[in-house]
Amino acid sequence: MTRAISLHHVSKSYGRDRRAVDRFTLSIEPGEFVVLLGPSGCGKSTVLRMIAGLEEISEGELLLDGEFANHIPPRERGMAMVFQNFALYPSMTNRANIGFPLKLENPREDNSARIEATARMLGIEHVLDRYPAQLSGGERQRVAMGRAISRRPSVFLMDEPLSNLDAKLRNHLRAEIALLTKELGVTTVYVTHDQAEAMSLGDRVAVMRGGVLQQVSPPREVYALPENVFVAAFIGTPRINLLQAVVHAPLEGRMSIDLGRQRLALPEPLSPDHQLLRIQQGRRIIVGLRSEAVRIAPPSHARPGEVALSGIVEHVEYQGHEALVHLNTGSRPAVVPDLESAQPRPMSRRRRATAGRTAGSTQGALGVLDRLKGRAGARISGPVVTLDEPAPDPTAVRTPDRPSVISGDLVVRTGPDMRLRTGGQVPLLVDLAHLYVFDHYGRRICPLPQDVPGLDG
Ligand code: ADP
Repeated sequence: MTRAISLHHVSKSYGRDRRAVDRFTLSIEPGEFVVLLGPSGCGKSTVLRMIAGLEEISEGELLLDGEFANHIPPRERGMAMVFQNFALYPSMTNRANIGFPLKLENPREDNSARIEATARMLGIEHVLDRYPAQLSGGERQRVAMGRAISRRPSVFLMDEPLSNLDAKLRNHLRAEIALLTKELGVTTVYVTHDQAEAMSLGDRVAVMRGGVLQQVSPPREVYALPENVFVAAFIGTPRINLLQAVVHAPLEGRMSIDLGRQRLALPEPLSPDHQLLRIQQGRRIIVGLRSEAVRIAPPSHARPGEVALSGIVEHVEYQGHEALVHLNTGSRPAVVPDLESAQPRPMSRRRRATAGRTAGSTQGALGVLDRLKGRAGARISGPVVTLDEPAPDPTAVRTPDRPSVISGDLVVRTGPDMRLRTGGQVPLLVDLAHLYVFDHYGRRICPLPQDVPGLDG
């Protein structure tokens, strides 16, 4: 049996004003694998522990198979949990460790068939009669998982189960966990701060920041259609390039995005997404370009939808199969706080009020922007992006004979054999189909969010 888990506006407060989780809402289907992803301290484990019943829910409702479950004791929830610091009983054999939960449930039953089947599934039959101290880290973690699985739980809860293992073993076990949970068809909630792990494991990934759920989507969507700049920056390696910019939309003439020293001219006729950018005229925005959206090539090689830019090579990172080129385009990067570690920091009342007034006062697209605001505003706590620095002074941009403090603002992928000279200028082509635009609160406005109709829609 596998269970549906629903959390409705679930919050957890420690003390009077310390909210570790803030109005978290998520419905998990039976058999689904959902990953809770976010920087350390953003509330992932607290959500998991509330599902397990190990942490009391301060506000909101937990439903298990549609039934109110806030007060069901952990033992009666039929869930198994695997932690980062798995504790096996050192004085028991691995066989006894795996069989321990079964023995607790039914002391008189012979569980050897079940233990051996579990061990076979995990590839640890040969170590059943050894003790935990005689195993490698990976084998010990398999025994810990065996102990969780043997009871045939209706839900698996995993809290960074692979963090203590070296990279190679982690990748190996990651694939095994994916296979195993599919095979067993058990609802799984998995906590990690490692975006690559989240992307490879989850049917859906729930990205958290500062106790607040930012987005929950299948891995492809969370990468391709991040709802805000935090999600865009948290997912993907190398990190998305985020540049401060201003939309330039004259009544006559071509629309462009001003990146400081250079402009991205938007091709005519404008796409529906780019048309919508017109209402941002004169506003500060954030342009997001993943490394695959930009290539090093001259303007004469431009394909439809590509526009020219140029950059000065700051540094080349050789990676074997490819190289990452750090370029200076004279733009100013946007800073996303909390990417590495997030602290619960609810938005102040004043900030909420200001945010509402500014976005709501836009002329001509009130409906669309209001819906955008309502949709994204509920999910963001605290500023998602910092744009307080002034736009770059064009004279401060590095030229070969005038070094500057501004270093690379754009990372681009190339083949490993491309010969590039540090300090040399290279032509770039930007694929506008892969251009993201976020407003100055960090909410994605291009491509247009799917649940918001276009201006003519
Ligand atoms: P994550 O799993 O994302 O690293 P946690 O859920 O463990 O984050 O913690 C979320 C926040 O709640 C952190 O700021 C943490 O310090 C705080 N926190 C967790 N447990 C307690 C506790 N028992 N008392 C006070 N604060 C806590």
